[in-house]
Amino acid sequence: MKTGQLFINGAWINAQDSYEKLSPSTNRIYGVVGKASKKDVGLAVDAASNALPMWSSVPISERALIIKKAADILVEMYGDEGKPTDLKSLITNEMGKRLQEADIEVIESSDMVAYFSENGERLLTHKVLTLNTDLWPTKKSIVEYEPVGVVGVIKTWNYPLELPIWTIAPALIAGNTIVFKPSEHSPFVGIEIGKIFERAGLPNGVLNVVTGCGKTGEYLVEHKDVNMIDFTGSVETGRKIAMSCAASLKKYNLELGGNDAAIVCDDADLELTSNGLVWGAFCNSGQVCVGVKRAFIDKSIKEDLLQKILNKTNALVPGKDYGPIISESQLNEIENFISDAITKGAEVLSGGKKIKDKSGLYYPPTILIGLTPDMRIMREECFGPLLPIIFVNDTDEAITFANDSIYGLGASIWTVDKNKGIDIARKIQSGMVWVNDVNVAFPEAPWGGIKSSGIGIALSDQAIYEYTEYKHISIEQSDEQKRIWWYPYS
Ligand code: NAD
Repeated sequence: MKTGQLFINGAWINAQDSYEKLSPSTNRIYGVVGKASKKDVGLAVDAASNALPMWSSVPISERALIIKKAADILVEMYGDEGKPTDLKSLITNEMGKRLQEADIEVIESSDMVAYFSENGERLLTHKVLTLNTDLWPTKKSIVEYEPVGVVGVIKTWNYPLELPIWTIAPALIAGNTIVFKPSEHSPFVGIEIGKIFERAGLPNGVLNVVTGCGKTGEYLVEHKDVNMIDFTGSVETGRKIAMSCAASLKKYNLELGGNDAAIVCDDADLELTSNGLVWGAFCNSGQVCVGVKRAFIDKSIKEDLLQKILNKTNALVPGKDYGPIISESQLNEIENFISDAITKGAEVLSGGKKIKDKSGLYYPPTILIGLTPDMRIMREECFGPLLPIIFVNDTDEAITFANDSIYGLGASIWTVDKNKGIDIARKIQSGMVWVNDVNVAFPEAPWGGIKSSGIGIALSDQAIYEYTEYKHISIEQSDEQKRIWWYPYS
């Protein structure tokens, strides 16, 4: 059985307490992991605080070399496309995603780490500002980017490598030190991240890993020496973290849930769109923040598109095309969403019942029609393989439905007319919109939600600045004895 330790100040140590992490594929114990106490979290924060003066004074180019090494290690751990490696198997075994999905996750993670190592120096070098010389002929202004300090990174489990990596890399390059708490559902991938950066040569204390459950996260959020919290997870926890950070005026970044719409126009390519919607709704067993959670399809293509979606959904094989649901409680929650919809009049066209003849926590891809706005599935995020389909009269109606949500994370538009796709994208209230695709992330492009889906940005050049404090240095270059705006007033 696997056992997991805490990584504090460069040493792997046992926590006093531990918990059993279950495998979603078997619902049996997968490993025993440290459950970091308040004292353990305190030791990790002390290590990060002590390492901060040293790490923040290492030249950016040298920090970048270490971070680039981590990217190279990830490439090595990726191996070959479609072939299991220790890292990919760890991801698939621990949280249940398919090998192809782990493939993408590992290679994207390496790409993201490489991006921040290559661009850190350009982004973090101080900038001399151009001022209005008529007004301020003798002034010079410089903006410098300083690290925020100790960053507490708290993450969910559905992309257990990529989500932590896309915070850790820019935060480190900006000179911060980190205490990282992985999800209780993906502790071993979290531990592996610690090992990757250890192998890359990160000095002791710069990155610390404390495994545990929600309470461990709370200790980190509440610690007075943590300067910023970077969180990915549910709106409910995000709100608690924001309230706690507000009390001590701590900086925070929140990447939260969504209920993403897919808008299918009357001119959509039916083959492409059916492939995209089925993958977008069911990859990672629907446990994707930007998965297709509500599909609004133009009535004029209803019959043909629905049939294609159903054929493709019914062909998906458990264990091959989709994995298990992360936990029994999540499986029960999916069932609650479905029974709420059925009670209020929805019709299930595919799936809709737990798979009984398969060990593990499998739930079949499920397609629902006959939905009304009062159903939970239309208003709340269901983290599971459900695709509610709503037929609409036209694109304007689809846009109105899509925007009728507390969330604003992502959306997708399906049309052969790419300019029309961009035009619709501009009318959607969300942080990201894909035209003729869904759920793809690039290190160069910002990632983040609006409305209740989050605060702040991950990825892109902007992400580095999330982990910095701006310092404006204003220099008066004239040696005059007085400024015209000083006393005495005439
Ligand atoms: P969650 O909020 O239950 O847990 C997330 C993390 O927070 C875990 O590490 C957990 O241990 C910790 N935690 C729990 N309570 C805490 C507290 N009081 N203080 C501090 N930490 C605490 O979320 P989850 O179920 O793991 O994640 C699913 C959610 O994540 C979905 O809503 C999904 O949409 C969202 N998500 C968002 C993105 C994005 O980029 N916006 C990406 C992936 C997932």
